[in-house]
Amino acid sequence: MGGKIFLTRTLHDFALKELRKKYQIEIHSGKIPIPKTKLRSKIKDVDGLICFPYDNIDEELIKEGKNLRVISTYSVGFDHIDTEFAKKKKIRVGYTPEVLTDATADMALALLLDISRRMTEGDRVIRNGKWKEVYGAFDYVGADLQGKTIGILGLGRIGSTFAKRAKALEMKILYHSRKPVSKSKEKTLNAKYVSFEKLITQSDFVSIHVPHTKETDRLFGMDVFRKMKKSAFLINTSRGKVIDERDLAKALKKKVIAGAGLDVFEKEPIDENHPFVKLQNIVLAPHIGSSTKETRMKMAEITVKNLNLGINGKRPIYSVGY
Ligand code: NAP
Repeated sequence: MGGKIFLTRTLHDFALKELRKKYQIEIHSGKIPIPKTKLRSKIKDVDGLICFPYDNIDEELIKEGKNLRVISTYSVGFDHIDTEFAKKKKIRVGYTPEVLTDATADMALALLLDISRRMTEGDRVIRNGKWKEVYGAFDYVGADLQGKTIGILGLGRIGSTFAKRAKALEMKILYHSRKPVSKSKEKTLNAKYVSFEKLITQSDFVSIHVPHTKETDRLFGMDVFRKMKKSAFLINTSRGKVIDERDLAKALKKKVIAGAGLDVFEKEPIDENHPFVKLQNIVLAPHIGSSTKETRMKMAEITVKNLNLGINGKRPIYSVGY
């Protein structure tokens, strides 16, 4: 079955070639994310939509898609899509878990190493011509990882893959999720289930791996930062909205916690006026958790496969809801 497809951003050539074989496709170029008015006008007569995590696919927008049969997002997170409403309208929603698990766990590790050893801060020192004295006893002092406690919030696909890395670094692993994982998984990862309260109070590093939901929305605010160790670091590769950014900026400025490494933000992209940008004790990455050449190709492949299945009324390989 043919049809019209709209992409809110371009994909790899092989994926576009595949799509062009079957469909009439249109790709948004220009401002990212696509302005809502443009997306609203484009969705009106398409059969399939390929979107990205920063596109807000809400009820109002879905209602405009009179012919829409499938929404295929180039991400594992789907908090930007009103999946309940899509289901009501019998619109399939495809997403891309598993293929990006390793890359995203690596990103959390990279942020952990960077913020604990002040690598990006050091890079700035050199580039700004501020490296005057060398090897002082107190210069660019970081934090050890070995023997320290890492608290993992959400021991799912990415959280548990990150735990493997933390285990290799000889860190003590605590975790919290709504329910504990199997005893054998705990044993393999050497991870101990604790309450959220214990996770935040006992950890030297906290790494967030939960999806953004009503329950996790702004879960990390000043009340949580005040309970964390003053020497603690926060890593977030999940979704920006799990953190109250204004509170985090204040907490970092006042040294309520020691530092943070973030790949995701409440509203992306952030610009140079964002309060985080002025702070030294934070490492910022532009939402590149899954961004390796290999992973991004696999994501494109799944995005197209999900779209193909959904447009034909079939369940995508990775499907939200139904
Ligand atoms: P996943 O396998 O579904 O794991 C999510 C974990 O969170 C599960 O262990 C789940 O366990 C736990 N959880 C869910 N709700 C919770 C709550 N309210 N309180 C405590 N724990 C909760 O998902 P994943 O593949 O690891 O991906 C995790 C998230 O990472 C995605 O949703 C996405 O937003 C983000 N992500 C970001 C990037 C990036 O580029 N930075 C790339 C990939 C993914 P229970 O159900 O037992 O609670």
